[in-house]
Amino acid sequence: PKENVTDSAAGGTAFATGHKTYNGAISVDNNKKALKSVLEQAKEQGKSTGLVTTAELTDATPAVYASHVDSRDKKDEIAQQFYNDKINGQHKVDVLLGGGSKYFGKENGNLDKNFKKDGYDLVSNKTQLLNSQSDKVLGTFSEKDMPLQIDAPSKNPLLVDMEQSALSKLDKNNKGFFLMVEGASIDKAAHPNDVTGVMSEMGGFEKAFQNSIDYAKTHKDTLVVATADHSTGGMTIAKGKDYKWNPEAIHKMKHSGMYMTKEIAAGKDPEKVIKEGYGIDFPSKQMDKVKQAAKDLRKLQKEGKDDKDPKVAEATTKLQNAIQEPINDTSHTGWTTNGHTGEDVNTYAYGPGSSKFKGNMENTKSAQNIFDFFKNDVTSNQNQQ
Ligand SMILES: [Zn+2]
Repeated sequence: PKENVTDSAAGGTAFATGHKTYNGAISVDNNKKALKSVLEQAKEQGKSTGLVTTAELTDATPAVYASHVDSRDKKDEIAQQFYNDKINGQHKVDVLLGGGSKYFGKENGNLDKNFKKDGYDLVSNKTQLLNSQSDKVLGTFSEKDMPLQIDAPSKNPLLVDMEQSALSKLDKNNKGFFLMVEGASIDKAAHPNDVTGVMSEMGGFEKAFQNSIDYAKTHKDTLVVATADHSTGGMTIAKGKDYKWNPEAIHKMKHSGMYMTKEIAAGKDPEKVIKEGYGIDFPSKQMDKVKQAAKDLRKLQKEGKDDKDPKVAEATTKLQNAIQEPINDTSHTGWTTNGHTGEDVNTYAYGPGSSKFKGNMENTKSAQNIFDFFKNDVTSNQNQQ
C-alpha cells in the first residue's frame, strides 16, 4: 500500500505552509508547485526570521520554511536557495543556526563567504555565537547533524543557547519576528531506538521550550507553538506488564547508544567504550554479544565495505541493539519500529492566538493559525502603510 505515515518533509510542509503533500516534498505540492511558508509571509511583512536546529540546516524541517524543492535529498540546492532567494531584496532567513557546515562551504559554492559579504557573522562554536554582534548570523557547529547533547563537547552550544542567541537578534526588529526552533535529534535518536539519546534531546528541547515561554511571558505579543511533525520509533514507557517505567536508569547513563556505537565502529575497544558510556550494570553475557557484533562489523570494514553498504548497516544496527538492550530493559522502554508512527502528536500553544490550537487538529491547521496571527498583527501591518 501507499505510504500513509508522514516523513518530516511532508509533515513540515503541512505545518509551514498549510498544505498536505507527498513524502520527501520540501514546500511543494503534489504537482511540485511552490507553497508559501509562514516564514516567507513574516519576511514579506518586514519581520525578522530565524531557523534553529540540532540537525543539518538543510534537513527537511528547517528546509520547508525557506526553500522549495521536489526532494529533501537535494541539500545543496536547499542551501543555495537559502542564499539566492530573496524577499523585498533581503535574504529570507536572518538567523541560521545548526549543523550541516558541508552544505555552506567550498563544496557548495562558498555560500558561507557570500553570507559574510552580506553582513552575516559566521560562527562555529558557542563562544563565537555569544560574541556575535550582527543581527544576522550563519552558525554551523558540525559538518552534519550536531552531536547529541549528552555526548557533545562543551564548545558546542545547546539548543537553548542557539534559541536564546536567535531571540536576542530577532527581538531588535520592532515589526516582530518568526523563529522556528527544532529539537531534531529526538527523531534521529528514536530511529535506532536509542532511549538515552532520545531523553538527552527531549531534555534539550524542554529547556528551549521553557526559555521560549519565559520570553513570551515578558513579551505579551508573542505566540509560542510547540508541536511535532510525527512520532518516531513507537517508543513506549513501561514495557512489560508491571506498570513501571524507570527513568532513573536513563539519568545514570553517560553516553547515548548512537555515540557508543560510533566509537566501537571506529575501532575502539568495546569494553572500554561501554564502561565509559554506561551508568548501570552491563551483564557480561551481553558484553560477549557486543564483542561479537563488533567483530562482525570489523570483518565487513576490512573487506572494504563502507557505511552505505546494506551489510554494514545491518551489522551496525545489530551492534547498536546489543549496546542498548540493557538500558532499554532496565528502564522498561519498548519500541515498535525504526521508522515513524502514525498516531496523533501533541500541540501546545501560548500567547495571543493560542486559543485556536485546540481539539483534534489537522497538521495543516498550525500553519493556518500562524498565517491568521500575522494577518491580525497590527504592529507590522501599521508599519507597512
Ligand atoms: Zn525521522
